[in-house]
Amino acid sequence: PSAEAGLYSPTDQIVILSPDTVDSVLFNSSSALVVEFYASWCGHCVAFSPVWKSLAEDVKEWKPAVDLAAIDCAEEANRKTCQNFGIRGFPTLKFFHAYSQSGSIGEPLKGFPRDVRSLRRVIIKMLETHEETWPPACPPLEPASKAEIDNFFETNSVEYLALVFENEKSYVGREVTLDLLQYENITVRRVLSTEEGLVSKLGVTEFPSCYLYYTNGNFTRLNVLNEARAFYSYALQRLPGVVRAGKPQPVITDHHKNTTKHEWRQFNRSRVYMSDLESALHYSLRVELSTHATISGQDLRAVKDYISILAKYFPGRPVVKKLLQSVDKWLEERGDSELPYSALKDMLDNTAQVPDAVLPEGVRWVGCQGTQPHFRGYPCSMWMLFHVLTVQAIKSPGTDPLEVLRAMREYVHSFFGCRACASHFEAMAAESMNNVRTLSTAALWLWSRHNRVNNRLAGALSEDPMFPKLQWPPPDLCPQCHGVRSGEHYWMQQEVLAFLRRYFSSDRILLDYLD
Ligand code: FAD
Repeated sequence: PSAEAGLYSPTDQIVILSPDTVDSVLFNSSSALVVEFYASWCGHCVAFSPVWKSLAEDVKEWKPAVDLAAIDCAEEANRKTCQNFGIRGFPTLKFFHAYSQSGSIGEPLKGFPRDVRSLRRVIIKMLETHEETWPPACPPLEPASKAEIDNFFETNSVEYLALVFENEKSYVGREVTLDLLQYENITVRRVLSTEEGLVSKLGVTEFPSCYLYYTNGNFTRLNVLNEARAFYSYALQRLPGVVRAGKPQPVITDHHKNTTKHEWRQFNRSRVYMSDLESALHYSLRVELSTHATISGQDLRAVKDYISILAKYFPGRPVVKKLLQSVDKWLEERGDSELPYSALKDMLDNTAQVPDAVLPEGVRWVGCQGTQPHFRGYPCSMWMLFHVLTVQAIKSPGTDPLEVLRAMREYVHSFFGCRACASHFEAMAAESMNNVRTLSTAALWLWSRHNRVNNRLAGALSEDPMFPKLQWPPPDLCPQCHGVRSGEHYWMQQEVLAFLRRYFSSDRILLDYLD
């Protein structure tokens, strides 16, 4: 990254402070803030920045209660601001309570830990030090008593009360409480193992464990793969009737028929459809590329590389493969430095009538259908397409491990219509794509970057309420992909790889809804 850009980018879930914004962000805010004062030249800051980024992703659901920020004190324009906050060394972390007064210099977190889990705990401890100015969006974090729980539904109108039973030292209950704070129709409370009345009433024997308490006084144990934060939060966020604040309730009836022009096509959510992949090809090759009347230079390289990987790896119907291969060959043989789009279009439409070669016209979304026309569709199909291609390439050992990713990067950079997406993707690619050394890690790289995008977009306006963004594959789709070590969720990368290879494999792609 350039010196001006500092160590963080706008896609990091971190508020990047500047002299113009610092007062309005830190003072009189309804949420607490934790600020990293750093210098981009300082080695410890560079080493710490991935931790700060991961932490920000990890606690992004907590934003209304506590948010993370950063300011680059090496930046000339920021120097005075950092001085005003009394910053001497880097990195320095400071906690700003909600409703901090103007002029406050925050509370330094001395000797702060350098790992996500411990930092999360420090943040919880700091949140708990709020007194009369408790951040309004922050739910109660103290343990609940039997008396409170017994009377809960008399004063609360939510559908579910989730109780996390745990030992006093455990943080799981508070973490899950914060993970759910943006969700409606559910309240989460921690209950200590010493709260004997409740423990014996529910027959709790395992700590931690999570129970759902309903309005009618019934309760059930939450069924999860592992008794850990990530699994509780995932399961609770997906209970029927639980929705993210401000999001409409997803409707699962036939209403789509009224809101989309076409009939809703029934599909299996855990499968890949050729119709989506062919639609991606049609849209990118015939619609997106056509915005460039003449293609040259870096853009021409991008088209050639894109079509080349399609010709090699697209696991399509034979007629489609043949078309792609003939276009690829034609492009490679054409020496010209400029390509009029019209010439490419003739090839895509097969005006020369090469036998048995077709690229079907039009889009027909199946697994990428959205409940509204502006949801899903093309970007969904592009992710699918590139996951399929990275997985397909694994079957050709000895090829350049970066071939598919590089072609994707070039295509997105030169042509992908969502320009903000393109610059975000370019930033991720610049950061780590060149570290990829094998075909398998290429597939895993794309999977993990896609999850980063999902993390960032969860709850955004562009999210289809029927298809919430989640860390994929979730435990119900791939139980073996998820592990827990010292209570922390982690991905079993080898299992994820095996899962990707199966999920996106050519022989599992469904041909439904094709002509
Ligand atoms: P998508 O995220 O499109 O995923 C499609 C399908 O892929 C899912 O239904 C699921 O079956 C599967 N899947 C999900 N996660 C993974 C994973 N980690 N690995 C493998 N498969 C997975 N939108 C923005 O608003 N801002 C951006 O910066 C942005 N950047 C983008 C960059 C690229 C390169 C692309 C292709 C798209 C980008 N988008 C961005 C669009 C956004 O990511 C979604 O594609 C879009 O919102 C549609 O979402 P969706 O629900 O269909 O799921």
